[in-house]
Amino acid sequence: MRRIDDDLSAPPCRPCGLRPPGRVSLVGAGPGDPDLLTVKAARLLGQAGLVLHDALVGPGVLDLVPPQARRIDVGKRCGRHALRQHEITALMIALARGGRALVRLKGGDPFVFGRGGEEAEALAAAGIPFEVVPGISAAQGAAAAFGLPLTHRDHAQRLVLATGHGRDDEAGGEPALDWPALARPGQTLVFYMGLRALPQICAALVAHGLPAATPAATIERASTADQRITHGSLATLPARVLAQQVQAPALIVVGTVLALQPVLAAALAVRPAAPALVPAASIAAVNVAVNVAVSAAVNVAVSSALSAPVPARAVAESPA
Ligand code: SAH
Repeated sequence: MRRIDDDLSAPPCRPCGLRPPGRVSLVGAGPGDPDLLTVKAARLLGQAGLVLHDALVGPGVLDLVPPQARRIDVGKRCGRHALRQHEITALMIALARGGRALVRLKGGDPFVFGRGGEEAEALAAAGIPFEVVPGISAAQGAAAAFGLPLTHRDHAQRLVLATGHGRDDEAGGEPALDWPALARPGQTLVFYMGLRALPQICAALVAHGLPAATPAATIERASTADQRITHGSLATLPARVLAQQVQAPALIVVGTVLALQPVLAAALAVRPAAPALVPAASIAAVNVAVNVAVSAAVNVAVSSALSAPVPARAVAESPA
């Protein structure tokens, strides 16, 4: 029986019969919106012949992969594993040993949760050359999408990204974390994979000293069309999340910085939506147009600034 890695092996080099060495690009797909990919990630996806991707990778991101490329969904969702982690790692190594260059596409950033570190360790141990292309992690995507300045200095001197899911705990429950450190004031906490353990997380933070009225929120599907924020406090959020039927993927954010969010989000809402990715030819045309417009605008701004200085105050945009 032919195996998936047999089908996908590169042909041997004819004169010597050896296969050229394969390589793996561990690529961050960002939180969902393809406009949030790095330029390098978009380039690698556009040139890819073989992509192994997770369930959390947005469809718009996968649209960048050429139609003739082979895509393998190795995604895991809520305990239903398409492939187990050790099977994913073994497949990557087999494909790379077969001479394939492959893109391992992971939601958010490959090295922020999501087991990118384990995959890199396995590739290093197997002697497979690899590179890591960073992505916008869910916390950054959510902060930008909802107007949440995670380390606003009036509110937070520390930003903690924590897992809300125990390593071997598929059933949820309180993850083993340093609760006294997490319950200190002056920080913003962002829990990944924490939805099922939300009641335990809120209770543990209060038990270790955070006021029950501390603002807390969930952010679902940040940067996608159906993104949603649900506000509450450590006391009220678990019940609100049930009532609102909040679904994964979602982050839990805790901290007084959440008080700024509705104000900033109201101003964000008047900004135009980000344009979709456009083909390179149109980008060149847009660049020319933008350069012309920008230099004209800068010239006008500079000459008017020289003649009549504008008072330094923020002016709220009026709603469109
Ligand atoms: N490497 C990823 C995290 C993988 S762990 C990153 O850097 O973002 C998976 C968890 O990430 C989910 O359970 C959820 O908590 C969070 N997550 C991923 N995408 C998200 C999104 N678009 N909105 C909110 N949370 C998201």
